[in-house]
Amino acid sequence: MTLDSPLTSIKGVGAELAKKFSNLNIHDVGELINYYPRRYDDYSLIQRVSQIRPGVVTIKAVIKQARGRYVRRGLHITEAIASDETGSVRLVWFNQPYRATAIKPDIEYYISGQFELSYRRLSIMNPSMELVSDFPINTARIVPIYKQIKGFKSTDIRKAIRSVSNLIESLPETLPSWIIKDQKLMDYNKAVFNIHFPGKSNDLVRAKQRLGFEEVFELVLAALLNKYELLKEKSVVVPFKQSLARQFVSHLPFQLTAAQRKVVWRIYQDLEKTQPMNRLVEGDVGSGKTVVATMAALMAMEQSYQVAFMAPTELLARQHANTIHSLLKPLGFDNQVGLLVGSLSQSRKSQAYKRIKSGDIRMIIGTQALIAEKVDMPKLGLIIIDEQHRFGVEQRKKLQAKAGHMPHVLSMTATPIPRSLALTLYGELDISVIDSKPTNRKSVVTSIISPNSRAQLYDKIDKELSSGRQMFVVCPQIHESDIASGTSVESAYDQIKKVFNNIRVGLIHGQQKSDIKNQSMADFASQKLDILVSTTVIEVGVDVPNATIMLIENAERFGLAQIHQLRGRVGRSAHQGYCYLIPSDSKAPSSRLRALESSTDGFALAELDLKLRGPGAIYGSLQHGQLDLRIANLTDTKLISAARQAAQQFIDKSENLLKYKQLHSQVKKLRAVTNLN
Ligand code: ADP
Ligand code: MG
Repeated sequence: MTLDSPLTSIKGVGAELAKKFSNLNIHDVGELINYYPRRYDDYSLIQRVSQIRPGVVTIKAVIKQARGRYVRRGLHITEAIASDETGSVRLVWFNQPYRATAIKPDIEYYISGQFELSYRRLSIMNPSMELVSDFPINTARIVPIYKQIKGFKSTDIRKAIRSVSNLIESLPETLPSWIIKDQKLMDYNKAVFNIHFPGKSNDLVRAKQRLGFEEVFELVLAALLNKYELLKEKSVVVPFKQSLARQFVSHLPFQLTAAQRKVVWRIYQDLEKTQPMNRLVEGDVGSGKTVVATMAALMAMEQSYQVAFMAPTELLARQHANTIHSLLKPLGFDNQVGLLVGSLSQSRKSQAYKRIKSGDIRMIIGTQALIAEKVDMPKLGLIIIDEQHRFGVEQRKKLQAKAGHMPHVLSMTATPIPRSLALTLYGELDISVIDSKPTNRKSVVTSIISPNSRAQLYDKIDKELSSGRQMFVVCPQIHESDIASGTSVESAYDQIKKVFNNIRVGLIHGQQKSDIKNQSMADFASQKLDILVSTTVIEVGVDVPNATIMLIENAERFGLAQIHQLRGRVGRSAHQGYCYLIPSDSKAPSSRLRALESSTDGFALAELDLKLRGPGAIYGSLQHGQLDLRIANLTDTKLISAARQAAQQFIDKSENLLKYKQLHSQVKKLRAVTNLN
């Protein structure tokens, strides 16, 4: 038997059980071995019957008088007496009628279970039992609990893994021996064995340490290798022209913040190098990333290079095109800016393709439509990706491939990446943080509102709207549905119309045609609408400074980072912004939401999401799962720094990755997931 053998090659696993395993994504022996328990129950302390006290207990005893009977329809009870030389105890099972006949007399069993009061007598309830002469898997040890799915028991997994324990014991080492030595790690085979068959509990701790280290090591090695590969590439040099930057800034209706200036300066330094820039700009919503991106683009356009600016939605692409158009107008660059989105008519598209190809359009702003084969950007020098976590690696790669060389890449995100995660996933990636907001901003006042207090809330909102402000209402779904009982955009729209008089209400969601969406968005932006009821299509980037209220229905269904993004749609001017979170019912607004009331710090909220929901929740849906670690805790900075050091040494020693088969295949997978270029 090898790691590639099918599950059915395991004794006791037939076709039917193998099919159940496949529901857990376990298809071969290797995947079975790599299926780690979620937690453990400690049944390892074996006590004498006279010693046991209420709680979880394990005894070694012989069984007498096992007897089963129906006490009423549907309720079967098996009772037995277990004894050792110190005394006897009653065992009780409910609805396991096979128990009585399965018990062999006068043979020693291990018996583990909850010792508690039942019908006024202390008994061990529904215990697991195994013959002492067998290798116990469900009793008398630290018992692993695997993720359960319907119709499938942890016992089945334990049995199957028990059958391959010899193979586990002979697994080859996966990491270089110098790492094992330097980091004082448990050997791979021992670690995997202990994960499934923990011996002393310190062995389990060491096993977790070893396997957790390996997970993080693989991640940081992948990130470092990506980084070194990029360093070998050459890009175009974009010299910094101070007069041009000065001129641009002098036409802005505001002063750049110090944070914006610092980040722009870093970008200009990057662009002057022959190595491709690979910079991620993190700036909380409203921190002013668009101006920063425009200043980067300006310098490249000045050198006749083309700039591709990709945004995740059409709404956003159009808004950026408008903004950037007017930002560049005073400098006479505006006629070089073009828009490319899916909803353009065929003829306007072909016109755009032509003007892009001829270099007539230097800055092309759009959605994924930019990736289309017909888009030919011969002089592509800079790629800007807005809300980069919304895109997959493939999409970014395709855009990049349009340049004959490696273009400079500037990614932007409003989802702050906790430092620990950034270090692990992106290694040496250059990150700039726009860490302050324009000074005319007040922070958005956030409150959780019980659904019972809608009337008072609507009064407040009415006043705000009467003074000329606008409101977003966000719901988790578009239509009423039987399956998910959330507020729909449609029903909220009807309700709002009834509640507020003389108020113009618009509705927007992802299933509408884009010209309808665009129209509503434009009407809202030009204040022809007072309220916009929407799904999360407005989550990213939409900028309507006069909107001051963000009302979120069924708020507990959204992630913290997502709500933080949503509330970033308001408070984008000198007017006070408000965010009202209405949970689905008045019972217990989740404590998760309270974090939003007290914190306006996107980084802190992202840290919390990382803790509560794992890295996949912070990183885009595409990468979900692939990033969620099984053992390591990504907030463990000591572990991360040890792994980083080892990964750097691995590269410095010119270790050959191909020598380590499992490491190689893992790193290859991770490089694809975490590559930001
Ligand atoms: P985000 O970082 O969320 O993408 P935007 O670039 O959309 O933010 O900017 C939000 C708003 O702030 C825009 O209306 C923009 O014109 C304005 N803005 C940007 N920089 C400044 C600044 N330095 N001072 C005042 N307002 C600014
Ligand atoms: Mg933005």
